[in-house]
Amino acid sequence: MKELTEIKYWIFDLDNTLYSGQTKVFSEVDKKMSSFISEKFNVDLVEAKKIQKEYFYEYGTTLSGLMKKKNVNPKEFLEFVHDIDISWLPKDKFLREELIKIKEKKYIFSNGSHAHIENVTNQLGINGLFDGAFDITDADFVPKPHLDPYKKLVEKFNLDPKKSILIEDIAHNLEQAKNLGMKTCWLENDEAFAKKDANKPYIDYKINNLPSFLQKINILRNN
Ligand SMILES: [Mg+2]
Repeated sequence: MKELTEIKYWIFDLDNTLYSGQTKVFSEVDKKMSSFISEKFNVDLVEAKKIQKEYFYEYGTTLSGLMKKKNVNPKEFLEFVHDIDISWLPKDKFLREELIKIKEKKYIFSNGSHAHIENVTNQLGINGLFDGAFDITDADFVPKPHLDPYKKLVEKFNLDPKKSILIEDIAHNLEQAKNLGMKTCWLENDEAFAKKDANKPYIDYKINNLPSFLQKINILRNN
C-alpha cells in the first residue's frame, strides 16, 4: 500500500462511493427515474422500472438508453431525477478530515450531473475539497464503463493516468481505468450488479471503508 503515497491524482466516483450505499441516497434517484419514465410514457411504475433497469444494464445508464431509444432530452431528465431531498444525510467528518489531508489533486468522476455532485458533497460537508468534477454532460452522455469518458476525464484535467487512482463501488467501472494505466480500488458492497466483476484482475485494491482507507495512506505518507 506504500506505493499509494505516490499517487498524484485521486479520482472518486460519487454515488455509493463518497457515501455508503446503505444510506439509500441513490434509491431516491432511482425512484425519480421510475416516475420520470412512468409520467413521460404513460406506463405504470412497475413497467417504468422494467424499462429503467433494462436500459441501465444495456447502455450503462438509464439516460443513455432513453436518449437512444426514446429521444429523451438529457437536461430535462437530469434535472428531474436529481431533484431529491437528502437533507437527512449526515455530514461525514471523518471523510472530510482525511480528504483535507490529501494535498494531491482530487476529482469526482460521476455518471450523474454537476447539480447532483453539488447537492451530495454539500450535504456530506466535503464540498470545496475537490479540484474538479467530471459529470455526464462532460462525458457527452457516454457513461462509464465506456472508455470514452475516462479518456475525456484525463484530457479535461490533464492527469497522468500512471499517477492516478480511481475508487469506485461498481467493479466493472474500473476496467477502463486500469487499461489507461490507473491504479484501481473497489469499494466492497453487496449489490449484485456492482460486485459481479469484483474478482477481475484489473482490480488492484479492495476496501470496505473509504475514510479508513484514506487515513491509512495519510499515515503512511507522513512516516
Ligand atoms: Mg457509484
